[in-house]
Amino acid sequence: METILSIDRLTKKFGYLTAVNELSFTIEKGNVYGILGPNGSGKSTTLGIVLNVVNKSSGNFQWFGGNVSTHDALKKVGAIIERPNFYPYMTAEKNLELVCKIKGVPHHKIQEKLEVVGLADRKDSKFRTYSLGMKQRLAIASALLNDPEILILDEPTNGLDPQGIHQIRQLIKQIAADGTTILLASHLLDEVEKVCSHVVVLQKGKKLYSGQVDEMVASHGFFELRCSEQEKAVAVLQNNPTFREIKEENNLITAFLNEPMEADTFNRLMFDQGIVLSHLVKRKESLEEQFLALTEN
Ligand code: ADP
Ligand code: MG
Repeated sequence: METILSIDRLTKKFGYLTAVNELSFTIEKGNVYGILGPNGSGKSTTLGIVLNVVNKSSGNFQWFGGNVSTHDALKKVGAIIERPNFYPYMTAEKNLELVCKIKGVPHHKIQEKLEVVGLADRKDSKFRTYSLGMKQRLAIASALLNDPEILILDEPTNGLDPQGIHQIRQLIKQIAADGTTILLASHLLDEVEKVCSHVVVLQKGKKLYSGQVDEMVASHGFFELRCSEQEKAVAVLQNNPTFREIKEENNLITAFLNEPMEADTFNRLMFDQGIVLSHLVKRKESLEEQFLALTEN
């Protein structure tokens, strides 16, 4: 694995407020990372620090294994952390020509990147005639002009209509599939769930969880069961340390797991106690329920 960015106990204080608190995580090449957290949890501040626009208070971060200066490393980074800022009366193409000049990128990249974001047929339209979603896609084209190793986006779908949101999410997935590593900040769980492979969950600047999105488990799930000997079943489950909580409602017993257990193992365990189940389902809390559980305290 190739490390793109490593962050080590990064902290940012604004006076008495700790916006980012001893945050550590690593970004490996080829993945799509989401920094997920409610408003004010320190997402933008974290992005600002690694992009050298906000000064850290303590801790460290290192780009590309630390072999290059941050200044040189950022030449291989494409980022959109503010609202797209183009000249309204210039065409999309002319705006990108300016960016090429500033970044020292050959002009033939313009057509290539406009095609990536689906704006090639609108390149001669003035920027001010673009919808919000098109403006955001043009910003992404602009950030991609120098073929960055990583694309960083802060709340990429904020303010867009449902169609615009869908287009941007599809575009991010497509850019990732083409091999660009992505780091995006979002307060939307379903955005991270739909777009990202990995997630760092932040609350008040602190990391609550980091890992793969599909392993973002605050629990090992639970069993729902029915049987004729309800009381006996509850007693058996309450005496088994594998379960942290047993609930009973409308003849349905819910047993919450402390550790992993498959349904067939559970079924045998009950059968060995002389309990025959008439209904058994294993379920996991949805990602949303897990996220709420993680950020509850
Ligand atoms: P997020 O992007 O997750 O919404 P931010 O990183 O923007 O969160 O902000 C984290 C916290 O730091 C918030 O409480 C915010 O008010 C505070 N903050 C951000 N920037 C500044 C600043 N320049 N001066 C003072 N406080 C700030
Ligand atoms: Mg923010």
